[in-house]
Amino acid sequence: MDLTQHIRTVPNWPKQGIMFRDITSLLENPDAFAHCMNLFVSKLNGKKLDKIVGIDSRGFIFGAALAQRLHLPFVLVRKKGKLPGETISEEYALEYGTDSVEMHRNSISYGDKVVVVDDLIATGGTCLAACKLVEKLGGEIIHCGFVIDLPDLGGSKKIAEYNPFFLVEFEGE
Ligand code: AMP
Repeated sequence: MDLTQHIRTVPNWPKQGIMFRDITSLLENPDAFAHCMNLFVSKLNGKKLDKIVGIDSRGFIFGAALAQRLHLPFVLVRKKGKLPGETISEEYALEYGTDSVEMHRNSISYGDKVVVVDDLIATGGTCLAACKLVEKLGGEIIHCGFVIDLPDLGGSKKIAEYNPFFLVEFEGE
C-alpha cells in the first residue's frame, strides 16, 4: 500500500505558500491507519524500549496507538500550560518568537529507552525540544518516528543523532 495516496495535501493552508499534509484522510481509512501502525512496529522490531513519547497534538494519535501495540507506557509532550503536575519545559524557536513544550517531571526515569513520535517533521524544532526534555530527565532517545518527512525543510538532518525514521516523504515545503 502506498501511504502517500492516503495523505491529503491542502495547498496554502493555514497560510499562503504552505502545502499542508493532512493525516485526517489517513486516519479515516482503517486499512491505511493499520498499515501505518504496522510499519511503525516493524521499524522497532527487536529493540529494547521502555516508553513511547508523543508530541502535542497529532503525535498523540500515532504515539498512543504505537504504545498500545508495544504494550509500553505512553508519555505526553504538551504545549505549555496544559499538564497539571510538576513539569519541566523547553523553548523552541518559531518563525516569529518562541514557544515551549512541557512534560511531567516524573514521566521519564533515568536510563529509560524512549521513542519520540510525531505525525510530521518539518524544521525539526518541536521534535528537538521534545528530545531535550527526555534527555533532561535522563532518558535515552533510541529513535524518533514520523509518518511524514519534509526533507527540504531540513528537520530530519537536524535530529540525525536521534536516529529518525519516517514512512513517507514529500518534496517541497
Ligand atoms: P517543525 O517543528 O517545523 O518540525 O514542525 C513540526 C510540527 O508542525 C508537526 O507537529 C506538524 O504537525 C506541523 N507541521 C509543520 N509543517 C506542516 C505541514 N506542511 N503539513 C502538516 N503539518 C505540518
